Amino acid sequence: MLAEDGRDSADLLAELARLKEADLPVRGGKVTAYVYDTGRPEVHELAARAYLEMLEVNGLDPTAFPSIVALEKDVVGTVAAKLGGGPGTPGIFTSGGTESIMLAVKAARDARGVERPQVVVPVTAHPAFHKAAHYLGVELVTVPVDTATFRADPAAMEAALTDRTVLVVVSAPSYPQGVVDPVPEIAALAAARGVPCHVDACVGGWLLPWLRDTGHPVPPFDLSVPGVTSLSCDLHKYGYAPKGASVVLFADEALRRHAYFASAAWPGYTIINSTVQSSKGAGPLGGAWATLHAIGAAGYRDLAAHAVAAARRLIEGVADIPGLRVLGTPDASLVALASDDPRLDVFVLSDKARGHGWFIQPQLSFPGIPANVHLTLTGVSLQGVDALLDVLAKAAAEAIAAGPVEIPDGLVDLLGGLDLGTVDDAGFTELLGAVGADLDGDGPMEMGMVNAVLDALPAETREALLIRFLSALYRTRA
Ligand SMILES: *Cc1c(COP(=O)(O)O)cnc(C)c1O
Repeated sequence: MLAEDGRDSADLLAELARLKEADLPVRGGKVTAYVYDTGRPEVHELAARAYLEMLEVNGLDPTAFPSIVALEKDVVGTVAAKLGGGPGTPGIFTSGGTESIMLAVKAARDARGVERPQVVVPVTAHPAFHKAAHYLGVELVTVPVDTATFRADPAAMEAALTDRTVLVVVSAPSYPQGVVDPVPEIAALAAARGVPCHVDACVGGWLLPWLRDTGHPVPPFDLSVPGVTSLSCDLHKYGYAPKGASVVLFADEALRRHAYFASAAWPGYTIINSTVQSSKGAGPLGGAWATLHAIGAAGYRDLAAHAVAAARRLIEGVADIPGLRVLGTPDASLVALASDDPRLDVFVLSDKARGHGWFIQPQLSFPGIPANVHLTLTGVSLQGVDALLDVLAKAAAEAIAAGPVEIPDGLVDLLGGLDLGTVDDAGFTELLGAVGADLDGDGPMEMGMVNAVLDALPAETREALLIRFLSALYRTRA
């Protein structure tokens, strides 16, 4: 509720600080997902100042605020130069990977203009493609990956192409197992059929090229690969910029124009939008520009080398932890760990690690891929990787001692057969209670049972339950 008289600023800021106390820490490397820390606080402080400098500038109208055109051209040009583009490579600065992907799918859809368009993706492609397809009225065709390497299978991808395919997608790397898809093979097969190819380098785009510069082998993946027509690269991941920063590049100007939107079909101001958002703060653009130039080429080479050295050390160390194994052969600094001991439940391991102050991200099983936990290592991770290995070993031993989560009898069948439309809010809260999820509890929720139950259900049931969970989380309770 809004107070009649405005509140004191110190009081408001103190309340924000208090609310954040329950959050995961965004610096220090103990959260191995969501956040990207250079380990160089001065870089993040500069980014915050640049963000504030641009905070109130509205990206809605580039003619009113020419600073955003200059900054965006600089950022896009910098990214393009490192990712196989040239001085004239067109791109768009967006709010994140999802928006970059949305625009790449829209551009491909509108460039082809076929009825009932399809986009072909490996199952490991990010859900942002499912979301783009859902929002843009495109059918998404998913193709299984090689279950030993987790890489997209060129022959299977080719077999999925039809006359209605407007775009083929590959990842560099994919998020779940951190492996780079065979980009040249798939882009060439697509090109031979006249189909454009998008490289989702959201997570790897600002890591792989720097890694290659340090002498690390990196397979070809960027815009210089024949057949690649667009590429997304998130600066708020390995660019270490504040959130809200990504770039989508296009092989030619005509394709970028298909990503744009203009409207003069109302009596108000004319709309020319390069992004899904219309009015938008220029803070993320200012923050990303400042971060890029503050870190510089040598800085990004060092950060990439550190992140990958941390991943190598993690992979070696995991070999000595009974019950754990690495999925596939990670190409960069994203690593997935599965259990090879039936007594070791990786979701329990994740909860135990949380108890030791570390966040290790659970990933549900998928046809051909076991349940696992994911770790994204960043520039700061190298200094803490031995502590991480200690925690993993401890958490694995504790998880084995505790044993796998026991799901109450009949609960999975009940949920699988449930019509959620008939369950009222009180009933859903009761269901959450049955899996040990207390929305009003303090401290981190124990997710082991929730994940075990979700893991036992098909994807559509998982999704329906998750949406219901989100609405329960945001419901105001007395
Ligand atoms: C993070 C990620 C995305 C989505 O990016 P957001 O910035 O979270 O919207 C897409 N693809 C891959 C491979 C990613 O890692």
